[in-house]
Amino acid sequence: MKELLVATRNKGKVREIADLLAPLDIKVSSLLDHGAMPEIIEDGLTFRANAAKKAVIIARHTGGIVMGEDSGLEVDALKGAPGVFSARYAGEHADDEANNTKLLAELSGVPVEQRTARYRSAIALADQDRLIDVVEGSCEGVIAGERRGTNGFGYDPLFIVPARQMTFGELPLAFKQTISHRANALRQFLKLLERYLVHSQ
Ligand code: IMP
Repeated sequence: MKELLVATRNKGKVREIADLLAPLDIKVSSLLDHGAMPEIIEDGLTFRANAAKKAVIIARHTGGIVMGEDSGLEVDALKGAPGVFSARYAGEHADDEANNTKLLAELSGVPVEQRTARYRSAIALADQDRLIDVVEGSCEGVIAGERRGTNGFGYDPLFIVPARQMTFGELPLAFKQTISHRANALRQFLKLLERYLVHSQ
């Protein structure tokens, strides 16, 4: 059975990606299952660039088929911040809690109609020889005035899905998996991976 290595140590991402790839006849692993790997400095200016970098570095190192995913939150009132800096918004080693606290502080006093935002996800596929392609997905939302719910990870307790008036922290993961930025990108990634596997046989 072929193996796809997902180049991340983020447990929230691994759970969502493994769940959506489960129907495929392919073994899915992540950096959490492997030993030492090269350090990846996420210095790209776009989600695409960082996703490609993660996939290419780990594919060259392991010789395997690798997915690189880079994602984050763009808030309109903050001119697109935190963007590619989402994981380290409150500092280099910031955790989700600190990032959410900073986001609430930055948006303090901003009225609800100006709290629009979106999650973006870029997903790259690479093998030992080359970057095969990068696909993208997004998901529109509104940033809440306080944390709501404990599901998901990252900014999910603050990310309101307008159609439901609930945050991803409150909504079941199964629902997030139908509309999220990552799910939208993964739907395209599945086609890309299937084409790649057919041609590489
Ligand atoms: P990356 O590992 O550099 O791609 O960082 C992604 C960061 O964006 C995460 O640490 C979260 O802060 C945020 N993020 C990306 N996707 C999600 C999501 O689905 N829910 C909540 N936060 C997310």
